[in-house]
Amino acid sequence: MSLRDLPSVDRLMQLEAVEGLVAAFGRSLTVEAVRESLKAAREAVRSGQVAPQPTELVSQTRARLETWLAPTLRPLINATGVIIHTNLGRAPLSQAARQAIQDVAAGYSSLEFDLPHGRRGNRDEHCEQLLLRLTGAEAALVVNNNAAAVLLALTGLARRKEVLVSRTQLIEIGGGFRIPDILKQSGAKLVEVGTTNRTHLRDYRSAISERTALILLAHHSNFKIIGFAAEPELAELVELGREHELPVLHDLGSGSLLDTRAYGLGAEPRVQDSVRAGAALTAFSGDKLLGGPQAGILVGERVLIGQLRRHPMARAVRADKLCLAALSATLLHYIREEAETHIPVWTMIAAAPADLSRRAQRWQARLGLGEVIEGRSTVGGGSLPEETLPTWLLSVDVPHPSELARRLRELDPPIIGRIADDRLVLDPRTVLPDEEEPLLAGLAAALEGPGGTAR
Ligand SMILES: *Cc1c(COP(=O)(O)O)cnc(C)c1O
Repeated sequence: MSLRDLPSVDRLMQLEAVEGLVAAFGRSLTVEAVRESLKAAREAVRSGQVAPQPTELVSQTRARLETWLAPTLRPLINATGVIIHTNLGRAPLSQAARQAIQDVAAGYSSLEFDLPHGRRGNRDEHCEQLLLRLTGAEAALVVNNNAAAVLLALTGLARRKEVLVSRTQLIEIGGGFRIPDILKQSGAKLVEVGTTNRTHLRDYRSAISERTALILLAHHSNFKIIGFAAEPELAELVELGREHELPVLHDLGSGSLLDTRAYGLGAEPRVQDSVRAGAALTAFSGDKLLGGPQAGILVGERVLIGQLRRHPMARAVRADKLCLAALSATLLHYIREEAETHIPVWTMIAAAPADLSRRAQRWQARLGLGEVIEGRSTVGGGSLPEETLPTWLLSVDVPHPSELARRLRELDPPIIGRIADDRLVLDPRTVLPDEEEPLLAGLAAALEGPGGTAR
């Protein structure tokens, strides 16, 4: 067997089967894949193996092309019970929000066009009125995400000046968002106030100088200070700020428009409460508890929002048309008071344990295995740390739960569960109704599949 037994690139390209690959993947990529297959074959021959037949080379080439072009951003089934899971794309969108994206994506739109007057319009207008109605603020601005909203506010209002932040709030929320780093990036100077566990109003007062531009109040997000701890209330900071003509920027993180206490959870600060308490600007995410698309929302005083809108950075972090379409549709659910039934995040939070138990039991009956056990779901998304919701889980006891988890990830759509106490557990709370069939079919396949060692 010698290298001469291998076909040339040109000869392989003339095969009918390869022409099919060209039609599906394009000529230049196919040539590249053919070259790679031949290179691997030459190496195999040199190491004493038999030269592959042309049909084998073609199927290797096809496999290469499929691997190269396989999408990496894929829909999957979240059975972890973490409702706002940043690694799994945060909030699933409502039917209306998905429809709004589709409608706007397919063609042209009135993104920056004033239809009644037939002249240039403003993209900010699509969500602003809805946000004002819901929060009571004077003005609103939507940008790419909340990190951008906070960065824009600090850059626009406090560059080369000082910003007071309590040492209890010098947080990192993951994904590289750290309050001290954002401040540095904005060109504002961080003035740390108080101590790690306790900060008092008098600490803020004594830190105010000629150069102070802003007081930043950041939600603790994903951690909790317990024990001997204290921080002034937003209203107290607003009062102090007024005495010195200093605006308060409230980074709410998740921010909610609904009262989480009504769902058996701890209190997550609501946007409208922040506005009412007098925050000059309140910043929050679109895809956390709001349940919409990725976005950063700033609501607050007209003069300040206007200043930020005109800042060059606003152009660099602006929201796109798909985001604005989905956000408007999501906000409309709140206006119509139908968030709980229409916004998936809230439907999941509101799900009754009895319903979750029935769903887990149905899964068990269908699969004919596993055990339905009590468990806890979490809200996630940097909101409500330590807070959980009672749920019922399907717990699958197999010899190798991580092997089963791996098989589930290889399915289409992939299924993501959780391993707890050496079992694979699946939480119905985060599985959308139309995902149940693919979930059950996938589970059955993974358990029965070839070499079904998982069972
Ligand atoms: C999540 C969060 C952010 C960042 O929001 P993104 O929308 O992810 O950019 C900022 N601040 C706090 C307190 C948060 O919880």
